[in-house]
Amino acid sequence: MYADVVFPLKLPPLTYKVPEDAPHDLKGRIINAPLMGRNHYGLVVSVTNESQLEKKKNIKEIQGIHHVFASESTLSFLRWLSDYYLAPMGIALKSSFFEEAIKSAVSSQQSAVRAKNNEQKIEAENYELSLVYDCIKNKNYKSFLYHAPSISHEYSLLNDVLNKSHSDMHGAIILVPEISQIERLAHMLRNIFGERVCVIHSNLTKKKRIDAIARIIAGQSDVILGTRSAILAPLRDVSLIAVLNEHNPSYKGEEGLRYNARNIAVMRGFMEKSCVLLSSVCPSVESDYNSKIGKYMPIHPSTHLPIYPFADFKRPKIKITDMKKEKAAAISRDILKEARDITSENGRFLFLVNRKGYSLIRCEDCGNTVQCKKCNVPLVFYKGKNTVRCHYCGHEEIVPENCEECKGFNIKPFGAGTERIKEELKEALKTEAIIVENGHGSWSMEQDPDITSFVIGTPYAIKKLKDEKFDAVAIFNIDGLLAQPDFRAYERAFQEVMQISQMVKTEGSLYLQTYAPKNKILRFIKNYDFQGFYDNELSQRKTLDYPPFSRIILFNIFIKRGIEKSLHDIQKIISDTNTNGLEVLGPIEIPSSLKSYKHCIQILIKSKDRKIIHNEARNLLKKLEKLKGIKINVDVDPLKI
Ligand SMILES: [Zn+2]
Ligand SMILES: [Zn+2]
Repeated sequence: MYADVVFPLKLPPLTYKVPEDAPHDLKGRIINAPLMGRNHYGLVVSVTNESQLEKKKNIKEIQGIHHVFASESTLSFLRWLSDYYLAPMGIALKSSFFEEAIKSAVSSQQSAVRAKNNEQKIEAENYELSLVYDCIKNKNYKSFLYHAPSISHEYSLLNDVLNKSHSDMHGAIILVPEISQIERLAHMLRNIFGERVCVIHSNLTKKKRIDAIARIIAGQSDVILGTRSAILAPLRDVSLIAVLNEHNPSYKGEEGLRYNARNIAVMRGFMEKSCVLLSSVCPSVESDYNSKIGKYMPIHPSTHLPIYPFADFKRPKIKITDMKKEKAAAISRDILKEARDITSENGRFLFLVNRKGYSLIRCEDCGNTVQCKKCNVPLVFYKGKNTVRCHYCGHEEIVPENCEECKGFNIKPFGAGTERIKEELKEALKTEAIIVENGHGSWSMEQDPDITSFVIGTPYAIKKLKDEKFDAVAIFNIDGLLAQPDFRAYERAFQEVMQISQMVKTEGSLYLQTYAPKNKILRFIKNYDFQGFYDNELSQRKTLDYPPFSRIILFNIFIKRGIEKSLHDIQKIISDTNTNGLEVLGPIEIPSSLKSYKHCIQILIKSKDRKIIHNEARNLLKKLEKLKGIKINVDVDPLKI
């Protein structure tokens, strides 16, 4: 007998001879076998008959055989992961806590916590929820999408589902996008499941992670709460997978196995026959589409659900301020007026900008912005020090006296950073504001009770202060968000504003300061018109053939200095690509994000057919990998382009 073994390395499965006395249920077990001069732990993914491999010589023998790590469905899931994300199976295994499982050194003795079978029928308040309970109880696959009016509604629906079905629950995975959301949920879950709960996220110490995996494998913990990677936890049986804030881009990995935890939650649910519950205050365009075509079942918050009051749910007013009517100031008069009213009532106002420092510097004559020569990004003006600084490489210099392009002297601050907003507020209202931005140390609202009227923050502050409620919030960079060169720019801007609206008191106001007040997306935002927004976005994407109407795979090819000639080889490989049913965009050169590589070539391939795009991507990858001195990153279903 021979076994195909996968190691948690960038390798395909390798074949080994099985010892005579091996147990017959070898598939899915952890084994120890020689590889590159020493023994490594690996996973047996299949066992083959001797006759097929008789001629193979020098085949090495498996040394040690340990407990079962993967069931048949886990193996299919790993195979699918590797196939779909175009990564060797070893990388999929590595991402699935294989090393932690080995280190946890648990015996194959299972002491599973099993729920008592509860025959009591659950009274569901509405039809869709009754289907959720049915799926959990009978272990059927179905994906549900709950478009929640607020984050608290998301939590209370989950709480309710868990409370009502916990005795039928054979394992659950609950995902949140940010580590900061774990604490509140952990408390809620421990109230229901006690010791069955375990937490997995990237900030755990190595020891804690190994402990968590050991508890899961031993069956002591079967309710897993965590960020993205928790979706790959080695749980044997899963009745429910819940993905909170399902639209959040943090679910997509930017390195290693670049999977989207939301998407693989749906796939894992399908393969392991579990209920998948997606929820968000602003579901992604793709999920909305999936619920329109019947792939996900929408859960409607209705008046039949007294615990999720929706009908009387109020949202803050969204106000658009037209900057074309303003003079040179960074803050519009409307916002200043509201700020004055708010201080007189001891309220709190949050000002959101997208950069630190004072502003950028621009030439009024030719429009040229002062940029970092190395990084090609605008330099940020620090007024106090009279310098400009690059936020990428840290380069800092004295503000130039004249424009590099036209040599004119008409150079002025342009746009607003945190310092400039602070200065204008001080001038207009004689009030000191505090700045919450990356690198300013940790800060909490309670620490500064006297000066919390005005808070100025960068996107970092949105994460830090997301549980706070303000009387008003002003967003200064909406034009920048809408102008991103990415087909998901509008979606991201819409989601961002909806997310921020959760930080405004219901009777409060949310200001959007813009030079393009007629933008259609702003109208959808102002009216909280989700359906209008989704319909508009879907028709745009249909016209341009973008997801969900096509599949896309992004290749970033990094090239070392001195081998520029391989540019030509890459060009040739791309032009030889079979374009039947496939669209190839690029190659284009983009700034290299890796220090040791001088160039980066980007190609985007697009197709309506999943098989075609995966086959062609695999072929392309095979050809590119033969070139020397280059590094290739493949991103299937990229979120950022
Ligand atoms: Zn100029
Ligand atoms: Zn720089």
